[in-house]
Amino acid sequence: MLECTLCPHSCKIAPGKRGLCAVRENRGGELYLPFYGAISSGGIDPIEKKPIFHFLPGTRSFSIGFWGCNMRCPFCQNYEISQRVRENSVHMSPSQVVKKAREAGCPSISYTYSEPLVHIEFCLDCADLARKAGIANVIVTNGMVNTGAAEELFSAMDAANIDLKSFNHDYYKNELGGNLDAVKSSIATASERCHVELTTLIVPGKNDAPEEIENLLGFIAGIDRNIPLHISRYYPNYKSQIPETAMKSMDSITKRAGEILTYVYQGNTGAAADTLCPHCGRTLIQRNGYRVRILNDDEYCCDTCGYELHYRVNFFHR
Ligand code: SF4
Repeated sequence: MLECTLCPHSCKIAPGKRGLCAVRENRGGELYLPFYGAISSGGIDPIEKKPIFHFLPGTRSFSIGFWGCNMRCPFCQNYEISQRVRENSVHMSPSQVVKKAREAGCPSISYTYSEPLVHIEFCLDCADLARKAGIANVIVTNGMVNTGAAEELFSAMDAANIDLKSFNHDYYKNELGGNLDAVKSSIATASERCHVELTTLIVPGKNDAPEEIENLLGFIAGIDRNIPLHISRYYPNYKSQIPETAMKSMDSITKRAGEILTYVYQGNTGAAADTLCPHCGRTLIQRNGYRVRILNDDEYCCDTCGYELHYRVNFFHR
């Protein structure tokens, strides 16, 4: 048996078998990665689609996805690539990814769509080459990873969007196949190493109890109340038939979050997602869908009142 220590599942993998994520294999007693560089999906996306709103706003990100995941969310939007693997998929080397990102004129590479952290070796190799080429690294992840790997992973990234799917241990464990403590620890680790934004999908009756929301917001504020939070509306998908989140619930949770955190955005609702100066209320970044206009000239402070901002317009000027 080989034990994988990457994530809290601590899979004991028998020879010739793979762990719960379906991508990490015991071959002859050694950890083998048959899906190193196996790309399930790719695209050139607005960085806002990740969602990342406060890092390189208005730019396009060269985005790649992989196969497999170490969680089992019944509402997964990308279950066709996260809950299966394809043996004969397209492979790319890290240098090919960086070359294509450069040719596309993208200032960042995003590791996204499925769960990139179970492909940590490939992400780290790619991120190292990207940094040398002056390209930023962005990860979109469930954050379900052990501390040592989290430190390495987020140190290699420039920005991360991490799902905080609930603040209930039992829900994480029994319905999503995850571990809340590991995710909390990852958020804290990431926030010390790169730009971080969080996403919480509000699933009716599952994670929207007022007390749970208070605890979740309090946890984020305890790390940094300037971490942007994306409150996302749930729709039935994959195995989940729970009706979509009511707008009344979305609005009240968003309102409460805005009383505790500095930057709160609604996702999947069509609501305005402009970034306002927290001090004087001036519109700094205007968003209409994925059309983005940066209205503030200064990269660091509000042009109107001089308040110090928490977003990075241009990675290359830092
Ligand atoms: S990364 Fe995959 S193989 Fe490793 S412990 Fe997690 S689920 Fe198991």
